[in-house]
This record gives sequence, C-alpha cells and structure tokens, in this order.
Amino acid sequence: MVADQLRREVNGETVAYVVNRNINYTNVCTYKCTFCAFSKGKTHEDLRGAPYLIDFDEIIRRSEEAWSRGATEVCMQGGIHPDFTGETYVEICRAVKAAVPDMHVHAFSPLEVTQGAATLGIPVPRFLTNLKAAGLGTLPGTAAEILDDEVRATLCPDKINTQQWLDVVAAAHDLGMPTTATIMFGHMERPEHWARHLARLRAQQLASGGFTEFVPLPFVHMEAPLYRRGHARPGPTYREAVLMHAVARLVLHPVITNIQASWTKLGPEGASHVLNCGANDLGGTLMNESISKAAGAGHGQELRPERMEALIAAAGRIPQQRTTLYQPVPAERRQASFGAEPVQPVVNRPLRRLTGQPRL
Ligand code: SF4
Repeated sequence: MVADQLRREVNGETVAYVVNRNINYTNVCTYKCTFCAFSKGKTHEDLRGAPYLIDFDEIIRRSEEAWSRGATEVCMQGGIHPDFTGETYVEICRAVKAAVPDMHVHAFSPLEVTQGAATLGIPVPRFLTNLKAAGLGTLPGTAAEILDDEVRATLCPDKINTQQWLDVVAAAHDLGMPTTATIMFGHMERPEHWARHLARLRAQQLASGGFTEFVPLPFVHMEAPLYRRGHARPGPTYREAVLMHAVARLVLHPVITNIQASWTKLGPEGASHVLNCGANDLGGTLMNESISKAAGAGHGQELRPERMEALIAAAGRIPQQRTTLYQPVPAERRQASFGAEPVQPVVNRPLRRLTGQPRL
C-alpha cells in the first residue's frame, strides 16, 4: 500500500508500455551460467532444442517487420557465440540502422559489451563509443542476475562480476547511453542479497544517473539446470514477487522512478496485479521472446497493444504507449501498432555444427 501510494505520487495513474520486438540472434553461448535454459551446448540438444544463429538478413527482416507493425524499438541480445567479436555487435547496429533509421536500438547486455571490447582489445568505454556511433541507443541492464559475488560464484561463475557490471553501466551512462536495471530472483539467493543488489543500484544511480527503470525478473525454474540438479528453489513465491516490486519502489525512490512489471515472467494477470504494488510500467509487447519460453515460462511471444491497453484499463489505470526513453510515441506509430498483421512465424535455422562458420 505504501509503494502503491508512492507510485501514485511519482507516476500518477499512467501505465506505460513500449511496442518493440525482441531479437535473440543466437542461443549458442560459451558461458556456463547454471540457471540458463536458453544457451545451448553440444550436449543439450535433446533436452532443449537445436542451437541456432540467425544472419543479418533475418535481423533486418525482423526489424523491418517490427517497424511496419508500429514498433519504435528492437531489443537485441543473445548468447556469447564463440565466433562473435566486437565487430559483430557493431555490424548488427549498422545493419538495423541502415534498414530502419528511426528504429531505436536497445541492445547488448553488459556481458556482451565486455566480451565485445575484450575481443577487440580495447577498453569498454571506447567500444561503447563505437557502438553508439553505429546506432546503439540504450543497453538492457541484463546479466545482472544478483549483483553480489557470493551468489555469482555459483550462479554464473565465469560471467562478469558485480563491479564489472556496474562499471559497464557507469561507462554507458557517462556516454549518454541510458540502461535499464534488472534483478533475477528466487533461485539460490537470500533476502540480504536482494538488499545488497538494490542498495548497489541506488548508489550507482546516484553516481551516474542513467537507469531508466528497474525490472524485477522472477526466476523461471522449469528448464534451468541449477533447479534440475536440486540447487535452486522453483522461483520466488507470489508474495515475494509482489514484495520485490513494492520494496524496489521504496528503496529506489526518488532516483529510479519507473518500476516495470515483466509480463513474460509474471504472466499478464500477475503483471496487472503488481501494478497495484508499486509498478507503473509493463515493458514491451516483444513480438517474439524466446528466453523465458526456453526456461519454461508459459508466457512469451507477444502481448499486442490492444491487449496491453485492455489489461491496463482493467486495472483502473491509463495506458500510454511510450518510446524506450519514456516519451510519448508519434500518432503514426500508435496507429501502425493497432490492428497490425500477425507477425510472421520466425524460423531460427539450426546450426549444423557449432564449430562451423557463423552465418553472420
Ligand atoms: S545467461 Fe547468457 S551468458 Fe549465461 S549461459 Fe545463458 S546465454 Fe550464456
């Protein structure tokens, strides 16, 4: 109730969402995050489907289709393919911007940025400058999981550590590239880790000021190796998920003003309920989303603007279609998003062999 009251004071009755498309260009990944059901290695094909890598033409096709369906943003992330270099990420940005110049490119987790910089042998700020010049607008604050190295040692032992994650977002903020902030919770961590995570985000926001929103991501356990081995609990309880949004609203006030409910993790009804517990944003319509689906969530794919606005109205709030940076969209974008043709089915062509040449 306190979080809801604070949300009312800060955001009023408006609930925003963005028409966007998720593009997950590959599920091949050299990393070994123990919670991850998305990345595919050679031995996991039977369990979780074939490894894939989509090419530039398909990235462009999906971006153009997204624009024709009213999107203002493409959100692009993927596994760390062994053949990707920093130049791959730069080329992805260039390809999208050349095809759809007005599309906002929201892409590359702090891990991908770190990896890209390392493959080129240049510092992260210089790599981010190159990405910005190629058309990158903002970064998703994913790969944060729990920002505490005690948890990361088991959850994602070979991934960037807490300080590296914070350093990448700080560098992006310094260059005028906002990021989101996320937490993935309900696996093997304890409440003190949630507290440290939130405190670190608050301190970072006070220092660099570039977080646009905070997005709690409840752990989806069904296909997660960590859970299947008995080392994680099956996601947070519903009460914990509600409290994560509410407590985040209180802890991050007034420095992060947008708390987003993730419909892919909570389900549309769960996300709608969380709107009464401190959240003021429903994130993206997505068009395609494969990461939560890979983890076993029943949601994913697309929540069309019509449905998004009906959900918001049913919660007694006022829908607003927004850009990535929380500005109202032009009327033409909104018009294009309503009544859009169904999205074409996506085909993620399987790789024949992981050791083969990448198709990018
Ligand atoms: S979470 Fe990301 S980095 Fe970790 S294994 Fe999965 S795809 Fe790779």
